[in-house]
Parts: sequence; C-alpha cells; structure tokens
Amino acid sequence: MMMCKRATELMSQRLDRPLSWTEKVSLTFHLSMCGACKQCNRQFELLHQAGQRLDGERCPQEEESDRE
Ligand SMILES: [Zn+2]
Repeated sequence: MMMCKRATELMSQRLDRPLSWTEKVSLTFHLSMCGACKQCNRQFELLHQAGQRLDGERCPQEEESDRE
C-alpha cells in the first residue's frame, strides 16, 4: 500500500500538473483506505478551489506598472 507521505506528495503535485493514470489510481486507492489522507485531500481541494477563484478575480494592474 502507498505510504501517506507519497499520497500527500501526489495531492500537492496534482495542483501543479495532471497525474498519470497510475498515480491517480494509487492515490484514489489510498484515499479510500486512509481517513487521515482523505481529510488532507479535502483540504487540498479547498485550497485549490480558493486559489482558482483568487486568480480569476484578481484585477490586472498593468496600466500602473507601465507608467514610468
Ligand atoms: Zn494515508
């Protein structure tokens, strides 16, 4: 069985890049057996959603930075 450390790494990496099929399956499998990592995964998903929302709503301030 995958170790919790590895599972956490995958959860974190999933935010930066798409996981391979094997990684996805082993992570899903681990989450189905490990309550601690399931909790952790939920935190990562919340973080990820919050990050996307922040990026989408951020106003570009290019006009300001163009001025000299
Ligand atoms: Zn675990």
